Amino acid sequence: MLKHFNTQPEPQILCDVCSEAVSNPICPSCLTNEIEAWATLYPDLIKNLIPRLRQYLNQADDRIVFEATLCLKCNETRGIVCPYCFTEFVFNELKRMKVNKIILKEFLEFFNFDFDHNGYSNEEKLGVI
Ligand SMILES: [Zn+2]
Ligand SMILES: [Zn+2]
Repeated sequence: MLKHFNTQPEPQILCDVCSEAVSNPICPSCLTNEIEAWATLYPDLIKNLIPRLRQYLNQADDRIVFEATLCLKCNETRGIVCPYCFTEFVFNELKRMKVNKIILKEFLEFFNFDFDHNGYSNEEKLGVI
């Protein structure tokens, strides 16, 4: 019997949170920088949100020691959480902080990684935000 050795899938990068394959590894640190740039319009948000994100990043880096992956953006090797899971975390933090709905909507305009529309963008459709 012939065996096909080439049918093994490529090693995939899996998100530490949802275990889905990450096709565009962008580290949470790079996303945080972008979120920080966006949030400069809202000084209160920077003050409250960014420290929470940094804390999350430290935990993520501690947790994922063996599966660190090269980030497409900064070329650092870091633990990877997929952009969806990370932005969902940020979105939930924003809700916990009871930010203005306008800010929530704006966040989704800039950082919507919910491409299948099964996650947080549903909340917008349902009028939750
Ligand atoms: Zn994920
Ligand atoms: Zn990065």
